[in-house]
Amino acid sequence: MLGGSFQIARIRGIPIRVHVTLVVFLPVIAMQLTAADGWVALGWGLLAAVGLFLSVALHELGHSVISQAKGCPVRDILLLPIGGIAQMTRLPDRPRDEFQIALAGPLVSAALYLIGFWGLAPWAQAGGQKSLEELLALLGVINLQLALFNLLPSFPMDGGRILRAWLTPKLGRLLATRIAASLGKFMAVLFGLAGLWPPMNLMLVVIAVFLYSAAGAEYRMVAMQERAQQPPPFPFGPWAASRPETTRMDPDDVTVSPPPYRRD
Ligand SMILES: [Zn+2]
Repeated sequence: MLGGSFQIARIRGIPIRVHVTLVVFLPVIAMQLTAADGWVALGWGLLAAVGLFLSVALHELGHSVISQAKGCPVRDILLLPIGGIAQMTRLPDRPRDEFQIALAGPLVSAALYLIGFWGLAPWAQAGGQKSLEELLALLGVINLQLALFNLLPSFPMDGGRILRAWLTPKLGRLLATRIAASLGKFMAVLFGLAGLWPPMNLMLVVIAVFLYSAAGAEYRMVAMQERAQQPPPFPFGPWAASRPETTRMDPDDVTVSPPPYRRD
């Protein structure tokens, strides 16, 4: 999809790709994650930044493994400064499957929080490794934030997909998507305002713009799929050919995890 990315690994047949902008932004994110000045602190910050995106990749893998099990292949996982994207070639038809795929990512993040914060950090502390303990505790907290942020009930984040899966049997897929997408747009505006509020957080503004457009795109895609399933108004003559050929576009499972976590 987005150009300018390269593959760093391949897990369960899924290429994990890093976008070049992430490489460019990594030192900036590292500086935001460091507590002190100096090269040593920057080194720990870089480890934290790499750990952050490793966490995002594992979150996406959580989605991907369940997605594959539900018969929805995953084309690739792309890591961007604004978060991770697992691109499925097919979206699940059953709300129950969508629910499980959406929940898998936050569950992985929650497990990583427990392992990092309550398991590995105390272990490092017992060994007298102060800096390592801080790093592991920070990564633990980042994973908790990842889980909670993505569970916000707004499209296209996991919580929005869970909400749609819950509403679809009651309201139908189109209306459920409209509600989740409207909530997504509303939430994106709130994020945008929060990002513009001093002290400005430009990354959050970029994320807000991305979320807003992705929420709209998802609704348009579902609307098009629903329309394509309707019989054409004029089944004969020149109008019959004007039906959209493709009923399935490339849906993205978008997981956004804002990097500018600060240590304070
Ligand atoms: Zn997710």
